[in-house]
Amino acid sequence: MRQSDATIKRPTRDHAQALRLKLTLLGVMGGVVHLFLVWLCLYFGYFRGGLPVFLILAAADLSGRFIFLALVYSGFNLRFREPGLTLAQITWATLCVLAAIYFVEQGRLVLLMFYLQVMLFGAFRLRREGYVFITALAVVGYAAVIAALWTYHPQGLNLQIELLQLLGFLFILIALSLVGGQLNKFLRRYRRQNLQLKEAMDRIEELAITDELTKLYNRRQIIKIINDQMALAARGINSFSICFVDLDHFKAVNDTHGHNAGDMVLVKTSELLASSVREVDRVARFGGEEFLIVLINSPVDRSVEVAERLRRRIEQANFKDVASGLRVTISIGVTQYQPHESLDDLLKRADDAMYRAKRAGRNRTVSNHA
Ligand code: GH3
Ligand code: MG
Ligand code: MG
Repeated sequence: MRQSDATIKRPTRDHAQALRLKLTLLGVMGGVVHLFLVWLCLYFGYFRGGLPVFLILAAADLSGRFIFLALVYSGFNLRFREPGLTLAQITWATLCVLAAIYFVEQGRLVLLMFYLQVMLFGAFRLRREGYVFITALAVVGYAAVIAALWTYHPQGLNLQIELLQLLGFLFILIALSLVGGQLNKFLRRYRRQNLQLKEAMDRIEELAITDELTKLYNRRQIIKIINDQMALAARGINSFSICFVDLDHFKAVNDTHGHNAGDMVLVKTSELLASSVREVDRVARFGGEEFLIVLINSPVDRSVEVAERLRRRIEQANFKDVASGLRVTISIGVTQYQPHESLDDLLKRADDAMYRAKRAGRNRTVSNHA
């Protein structure tokens, strides 16, 4: 029904996108720190190829990272299946670390350690397959770099030490993968539970404001709505009217056709009322067979016209699916809110008008000017 629309709030996509941007920026910062370490190797004379190679490496490394940043910043990343681009970013960072390792003659272990930081970057975001892939990439890549070094620059290379390092690296990566996989599992479970909790909260919120039988607003909610309208009207923002609706001889419906039939009449009447007013207007079940309608920004003459339209619609409606030959009518009291009056005064005036409609023979609309 219309009223539930307003209560459903969904988490915005902007939030997820902001997080992606933050992580991508962290990736750029990681790249800068990595390049700083490589530059230190260059400074200390451990970098084969000197400044030109370092500059090419740095330019390639940073361009890649800025491309990711541009993709996320522009929102283009949303076109990808995994908009976080996590796997792609980690792959790029891995390749950059591996390239640097090829040129660094001493201190490769430091760069390897630095690579663990790259892994942590994906700890919350990658699924198991992703971890297996980046672990394999790092280990195979490292082995390939060592093989290349052994082929082209074997001087000063101690294969046994390198093998030890590779094994140590492999074990740490496997351990990290396992921990990361668990973290990711927890995180996904946490997100799922959070979503369920939010749905439950939405549902509770809806239940708290809804009448169970008719699915209209309940008495508490319509009083809150009227109070809000009164606050607006007091600031001269709008004027509103209320219609107090009561089913005529409803007790007789129950007595003749049974309580279930009575319930069906209440439901059908609610549907007719709710579908006969504008989107901005509010319809509530106020009590047993009484309804309250708040007509927003509506002076009393117009509200009487609306009430008359509602009254005729109910009068002409076919209730034969409830009981054959059943006719239902309503009596309506209409009144406009007077600035600075109390809620009780407003309700009492509408109620009085409704009773005057009853006394005048029912199935009619009576308005009550203050
Ligand atoms: P009047 O025209 O003067 O309003 O007469 P009435 O019979 O409608 O008014 P009365 O106040 O005497 O009776 C209201 C009836 O509404 C009595 C009660 O059993 C019935 N009623 C209240 N709530 C429900 C409900 O949820 N379901 C059903 N089936 N009946 C209800
Ligand atoms: Mg009544
Ligand atoms: Mg009644």
